[in-house]
Amino acid sequence: MANILVVEDEESVRELLRLYLEKEGFKVELASDGEEALDKMSRTSPDLVLLDLMLPKKDGWEVCREIRKTSYVPIIMLTARGEEFDKVLGLELGADDYIAKPFSPREVVARIKAVLRRANSTSLSRGRIWETLGLKIDYEAKKVEAKGREINLTPKEFELLWFLVNHPRRVYTREQLLEHVWGYDFAGDTRTVDTHIKRLREKLTEGGIASSIKTVWGYGYKFEPE
Ligand code: CA
Repeated sequence: MANILVVEDEESVRELLRLYLEKEGFKVELASDGEEALDKMSRTSPDLVLLDLMLPKKDGWEVCREIRKTSYVPIIMLTARGEEFDKVLGLELGADDYIAKPFSPREVVARIKAVLRRANSTSLSRGRIWETLGLKIDYEAKKVEAKGREINLTPKEFELLWFLVNHPRRVYTREQLLEHVWGYDFAGDTRTVDTHIKRLREKLTEGGIASSIKTVWGYGYKFEPE
């Protein structure tokens, strides 16, 4: 059964979540502040992190950002602040879902199951071949086919496409894409990302594939399989 890391500084909420999750058969690890969260994260490698936003020592944003430097583990944010801004920011930082307090434990369990299901179906395609709707990507051979016809991508276009299809529906800023695809040391600017996305879309469109790479205005890009 999946291993869940619950990060919450309020003891009553933490214990309530533990109780419900264990009842559902999950294995539960607990952390009561941001530093403990990162420590547990590295020692227990959980399958999902339930992360409170307001935490002592390091807050949820910081913890989320730290985790995302090394891991794509699904993260569900818990927050008392229900504003849309927080929601978007949380997802931009790489959280997978968001639950506003007060919540019912039953809702939390349902959301955890949904996120885990989604994560598992993504990791199936994370093998070395990714295929859907006429698009086939072979990671080892660095080959992309659109409706059976090979399309030629530059190495960076290929890496960018591979990254996006393996993280569907998640919005990435240009800075995040630079970090993930080009690496932290890359000296160019964010327009590089726009140029590559543009070329990638053109090539996919020429190949007869309606582009699934969407622009999220003011934030960045995401891959949205139709
Ligand atoms: Ca809190």
